Amino acid sequence: MITKTIPYGHQYVSDEDIKAVMSVLTSDYMTQGPIVGEFEKDFCNYLGCKYARMVSNGTAALHICAQALNIKPGDKVITTPITFVASANGFRYEGAEIVFCDIDPKTFLMDLDKLEDILKASPKGTYKAVVPVDFAGYPIDEERLRALADEYGFYLVVDACHAPGAKFSDSKGEMQLVGNGKFADLTVYSFHPVKHIAAGEGGAITTNNKELFDKVALFTSHGITKNPDLMTKCDGGWYYEMLELGHNYRITEMQAALAKSQLKRLDWSLQRRNEIACKYDEAFANMPEVRTPYRANDIFHAFHLYMIQVDDRKGLYDFMHDNLVHVQVLYIPAHTMPYYRQFGWKEGDMPMAENYYAHCLALPMFPSLTDEEQNWVITKVKEFMARK
Ligand SMILES: *Cc1c(COP(=O)(O)O)cnc(C)c1O
Repeated sequence: MITKTIPYGHQYVSDEDIKAVMSVLTSDYMTQGPIVGEFEKDFCNYLGCKYARMVSNGTAALHICAQALNIKPGDKVITTPITFVASANGFRYEGAEIVFCDIDPKTFLMDLDKLEDILKASPKGTYKAVVPVDFAGYPIDEERLRALADEYGFYLVVDACHAPGAKFSDSKGEMQLVGNGKFADLTVYSFHPVKHIAAGEGGAITTNNKELFDKVALFTSHGITKNPDLMTKCDGGWYYEMLELGHNYRITEMQAALAKSQLKRLDWSLQRRNEIACKYDEAFANMPEVRTPYRANDIFHAFHLYMIQVDDRKGLYDFMHDNLVHVQVLYIPAHTMPYYRQFGWKEGDMPMAENYYAHCLALPMFPSLTDEEQNWVITKVKEFMARK
């Protein structure tokens, strides 16, 4: 019997994490100290990329990408409607015109055939950036996207907020870690508590491109530099120059310490998430009324979310909430938001995304979910289906 609500996602903070944060509080730095750099180094080592910049949250990371890519008002940027609105908003802050591309009904990711159709329909260079999302933790085919980026001349910014540690297989059969910088120009992460690495708030940008990285670093901290190579002159040791209109999107040392400690458990957490997914898969294998998420066998899924599809989604949502299971609907298609409707987007524009939204439900998925809790979730879904 379950007596406490089971959320769809939840952070796990260990004693070691707490110690790491506590030690920062009594150190000399609460911000702009050594820990942020230590996390960035560890994150680069984990992902196999050259550069990482930690920032205050994932939305700030997306905004910084838009600035680093010199997005100007009216520049066209393509993203998916099945994402958190920040994927689009980050580019809107710089005035980009957002173009939504419908999803593949199997993976729920941006449909790359449809993307190709959109790209083909306009002269090369029409689109400044494409922002696919590794939705739910399913890694998108970055190799194909890279080829399209080279052909059509856009920047590839992967929103991997759901997918630290996810891998896809390239055309040579080699597994590629998302964020390793081989295909994407920039990759973005979030360290919000429902995500894999919980820092309270936090985010990061990874890249192998030094020039882009320097811009990312500049925009994260007021557009200010002390780098003699970038300055017009130097009056003395105190001297710095503001080169761009940047922001204060820095993160604190406490958050960095938490993220750094959590990064050590990322592999364990991914393994645990995959175990939970397999158990759900098996539990609903013989129930066609509960459609479990597809995954190709040549990917490693990061399982930020476990999305099922059911006919009576509202019925199941209410029933589960009545039984202490806080299932969630993710996401309401971004193009149907009142804000994006003002640009002409409307219901009916993205049939696959809208059909997905009508049936989707996120079951609890987080590493500290107990067997007892997961059994309860499964039993309740089955109970609801049997009542029909
Ligand atoms: C969480 C999330 C973001 C934004 O991250 P925050 O850290 O909450 O600002 C962006 N994109 C996706 C897909 C996300 O899930």
